[in-house]
Amino acid sequence: MDRLDPPSRVLLGPGPSDVPPRVLRALAAPTVGHLDPYYIEVMEDVRARLRACFRTESPLTFPVSATGMAGMEACLANLLEPGDAMLVVVNGVFGGRMVEVATRLGAVVHRLEVPWGETVESGAVERALETHPDVTCVGIVHAETSTGAHQPLEGLGELVHAHGALLVVDAVTSFTGAPLEVDVWGIDACYTGSQKCLSAPPGLSPVTFSARAVARMEARSAPVRSWYLDTSLLRAYWEGEGGRRSYHHTAPVNMTYALREALQLVMEEGLEARFARHRRHHAALRAGLEALGLRYVPARSLPMLNCVRVPDGIDEAAARRRLLSEWGIEIGGGLGPFAGKAWRIGLMGASCTRRNVDLALVALASVMERPAREALDAADAAS
Ligand SMILES: *Cc1c(COP(=O)(O)O)cnc(C)c1O
Repeated sequence: MDRLDPPSRVLLGPGPSDVPPRVLRALAAPTVGHLDPYYIEVMEDVRARLRACFRTESPLTFPVSATGMAGMEACLANLLEPGDAMLVVVNGVFGGRMVEVATRLGAVVHRLEVPWGETVESGAVERALETHPDVTCVGIVHAETSTGAHQPLEGLGELVHAHGALLVVDAVTSFTGAPLEVDVWGIDACYTGSQKCLSAPPGLSPVTFSARAVARMEARSAPVRSWYLDTSLLRAYWEGEGGRRSYHHTAPVNMTYALREALQLVMEEGLEARFARHRRHHAALRAGLEALGLRYVPARSLPMLNCVRVPDGIDEAAARRRLLSEWGIEIGGGLGPFAGKAWRIGLMGASCTRRNVDLALVALASVMERPAREALDAADAAS
């Protein structure tokens, strides 16, 4: 391979999503130093926009220089000390990963298991907190990308705080695609990623910490186990101390431009309008998929991730390979108990268009060897 010439795909999987030309152009802007006054202005601008999208006033809001998993690791590494007890709701891949990360940090982890595809009721969280009164952190996934389940979070913060614990939320897939109210819902640590509903390339993980979380970090008895993800060091760069910013690591300058442009596109559209667009196209896709005879896995589906069972007699992976080679469309396969049994169709950020809904329906009908007309009509009727 002499020349880099990536194909232009339609990204309808669990992430990344299609990156708008404006965001790609931002990546190609001149690189400046990570302490250049111009870059510091960009950093401040990014932090203000992130606060607006997280719906928080928390000053400790910034992008971690790595993908969503690093955001998860940053939240847990800063809030947990060895021996601390954490409760994690596990109803898919990402709850399982929270358990794994917290365990490696030396925490004693209690799993609240919920069948994959389902969500948890707050009563079950309350009972688990009564059983384990020493829990200092509760972890939960807002948008479980592995199953498409949409976890309600209203009221959970209050309940968790009443038991003296902090609420950590994985909002990687929901951020800017569905309502997320960090302050109103009492979320203490929240992380996301640049490549899902934000539609920037993968590589950054915005995080935010509440005043309660900051107090917990300041009261630590030992330094954070991860030097790179230690917010007490990162703050000196992202927030500055006495008007000075100190070098911690060389920030990914051009990725920060891309993130800033992706956030600007969100602001121009408006958060509410963006949520409504995700709901509208989800309704059309859902009607079309159901007309094709596909059934949703979760009872409470996310708008931006549609997880459906593959009918008997259809080779799940072969169908996805044909979508990619014949149509240039990427969708995801099932994970865990749904491996080989489900498709995960994303309508995230810039990929969430009516045109992509129709394209996905026609392409799926084609690889399933079924007529598309009824599905397209159903999508029309639903939008
Ligand atoms: C994608 C995803 C992650 C991980 O993000 P990476 O960018 O792949 O590291 C974490 N949680 C959820 C819910 C996700 O969908």
